[in-house]
Amino acid sequence: MTPAKRKITVLPGDGIGPEVVDSALAIISATGVAVEFEKYEAGARAFQKGIVTGIPREAIQSIERSHVVLKGPLETPIGHGNRSANVTLRTLFETYGNIRPVRELPGVQTAFTGRQLDIVIVRENIEDLYAGIEYMQTPGVAESLKLISREGCEKIVKLAFAFAIAEGRKAVHCATKSNILKLTEGLLQHTFEELAPQYPSITSKHILIDNAAHQLAMRPEQFDVIVTTNMNGDILSDLTSGLTGGLGFAPSANIGNDVSIFEAVHGSAPDIAGKNKANPTALILSAAMMLRHIGEGKAANDVEQAVLVTLESGIRTSDMMGKVKAAGTTEFTQAVISNLGKASKLSPPKKYAEVELPPSQLGVNVVRAGARKVTGLDVYIESDLEPKALASDLETITSSSSLKLEMISNRGAMVFPSSDRKVSLVDHYRCRFVQRDTTTKLADPEILSLLGTIGGKHRWMHIEKLQEFDGQPAYSKSQV
Ligand code: NAD
Repeated sequence: MTPAKRKITVLPGDGIGPEVVDSALAIISATGVAVEFEKYEAGARAFQKGIVTGIPREAIQSIERSHVVLKGPLETPIGHGNRSANVTLRTLFETYGNIRPVRELPGVQTAFTGRQLDIVIVRENIEDLYAGIEYMQTPGVAESLKLISREGCEKIVKLAFAFAIAEGRKAVHCATKSNILKLTEGLLQHTFEELAPQYPSITSKHILIDNAAHQLAMRPEQFDVIVTTNMNGDILSDLTSGLTGGLGFAPSANIGNDVSIFEAVHGSAPDIAGKNKANPTALILSAAMMLRHIGEGKAANDVEQAVLVTLESGIRTSDMMGKVKAAGTTEFTQAVISNLGKASKLSPPKKYAEVELPPSQLGVNVVRAGARKVTGLDVYIESDLEPKALASDLETITSSSSLKLEMISNRGAMVFPSSDRKVSLVDHYRCRFVQRDTTTKLADPEILSLLGTIGGKHRWMHIEKLQEFDGQPAYSKSQV
């Protein structure tokens, strides 16, 4: 009996997606690996059919069976309306780690050619601002919630080190904006610094994300693996792909404990869609990552080597060549197929070991504090009063509450009690109330009573409890 073929769910996607996916599928088939493709529509056409997630149910069921997806780019409606189908896929299948490698490629001339760049961005993929939790707090002020969990930080840091070890890499940088976002970005930095000693063979270092961007433009060869939060990683990985030839060459893997999704970093490139102009390299290299992931290491190496040989021979698409002598997507694909089995002169296959994924945590992951206390409340109020007038009114109406007004800020700047400096104000205030008697316990009925009093006169739309965990304030101080 012939062994069952390994199933792979394929989502060709939008724009150039079908062209580059067809290219990768043709090359995979030519390697002779025993795989079977299950193709489904997703993205723009699914949205048009009224599928609100952009991913049809049959595609989801196929992914549940196959656990592996090769996908083309999916268009995201910009600004309003439907949620990104990409984010839905990543969240639904909890592909928490996005691995985006770039390296110097033969014949792909860049400003850094000759510096042997070989950098991997390991991006947290499901938390952070990309959870897409947003509100209009007032008609003129928007909010996006940046939630970062200890669990998410541990998983991405462990994945970055596991990946570095599997690829025989030497160093992992952790890039964050922890100097400003001390609690959210700081959580990744602290988790990284706590876990790094468990990997003594790898050099570890924290770097601020803005400096990382600067260093990547100045001396990118100093980087090996960079682990970072979701939005930072999105931006930084487009930057690193630009260092090595552009989006047409940048592959990626979205890794989860159950499902992994392989795709190019680039989008649907509507400007060149349907013109046989797309560079399929990024998706072909993503397919090689997928083959390695499913244990087809030889086929993965063969595909990578065939791409390198093709580029060495001078065959390139129009994103590298301009209009003159550029190969179309199909010609490039045929060249790669004809080069299967050949070895690159400049870049022999690397040694890869299997990535040992951190085990998945079942159930609710709890982080406990030895002691915890609620000490006050930030109430967000929409008001067209000047700060002094608002403060005076709040003090008057809350004079019998167990909470007293401590400060008011407007767009992060304190405007009460120190209100000497002129700042441009908006009709959105954060009003901090703290206990009058800090020796007592602050209970919810007192908070609700305060809100009732404020709500009788002012429009409030959001609150945050001020908590202390183990004696440490669990909130940011207002900037003076
Ligand atoms: P894009 O990556 O589609 O295009 C940016 C530029 O790069 C364009 O000039 C394009 O022609 C060029 N380019 C991209 N890939 C190329 C390739 N393989 N060969 C040659 N040139 C290539 O970025 P965009 O225009 O910002 O986004 C277009 C759409 O894609 C949007 O709807 C966006 O939401 C979506 N998108 C999807 C994904 C994904 O599915 N993972 C990722 C990024 C963007």
